[in-house]
Amino acid sequence: MKQIFVEQQILDEIKKEHWKYCLSKINKKKLRLSYDDCKKLFIENPFNEDFTVKSEYKKFKKKQFDFRQKYKHFRTPISKKQTWYAAKLIEKLNIKVCPYCGQQYFSTITKENGSVIAEASLDHFAAENEYYYLALNLYNLIPICRSCNCTYKLADNKIIVNPYFEQLEDYIEFSLDNRSLIKYFSDNENLKVNIINKNHNQRTQNHIDILNLENRYNYYQNMIKTLIYKKEVITQNYLDDITEEINGEKISLKDLILKQDLFDKNEPFMKFKLDIWKQL
Ligand SMILES: [Zn+2]
Repeated sequence: MKQIFVEQQILDEIKKEHWKYCLSKINKKKLRLSYDDCKKLFIENPFNEDFTVKSEYKKFKKKQFDFRQKYKHFRTPISKKQTWYAAKLIEKLNIKVCPYCGQQYFSTITKENGSVIAEASLDHFAAENEYYYLALNLYNLIPICRSCNCTYKLADNKIIVNPYFEQLEDYIEFSLDNRSLIKYFSDNENLKVNIINKNHNQRTQNHIDILNLENRYNYYQNMIKTLIYKKEVITQNYLDDITEEINGEKISLKDLILKQDLFDKNEPFMKFKLDIWKQL
């Protein structure tokens, strides 16, 4: 849900590593690739503003460069000597939560021998079956959680929000359905949260639909119920009461109670919780 932000210096380092790796894996001469073509294929942004693939890339389709097999080795290294691979890229990008759904943590673990394991996968933003020549393009490799990758996104060719350049949470709002709130209090029925596509953008709608976000968020009923409960309990009187008891600072107490849930912006479900909290 958040945009992936990388400082220029880190991005330069990533490009350097990736460039070195890709060149070591292909035979430029045999494939008749110029220096500029290699840059285009591996480390340059292949997308237009609407995230279709730039027309200058069409020529690669005719030449039929298929780097999918090479990508497999990038994803799962075959040699211990390999120093640049998917998990290292995910580690360098330093993303804490899946940028596609905002629900799953990404952790990377460095083993004693220095190799890195990532709990995330890489998504080919432009589908692999059609844009096989972009299988190793850096801008086409986006960290994604396993649920998004293996259960929902699959090989859909519709364009969705691109986390390298934009953030889904700017385009949507979680909205708690008032009727469901009334039914929850009267008959203990399930609460319903709708996802509003604020700018009516097709890309945003595709993203919500393909990743099945509305159903996936509505599954977390207890999270919504906890927010409702907290909103009921944490009144000014309640804060005054406990403040008296510990002689202390009102504001920091409120922060303390809500912190983990509402104010740590780099946690999973953050946009969901903040939007619902504002409505209660
Ligand atoms: Zn995800």
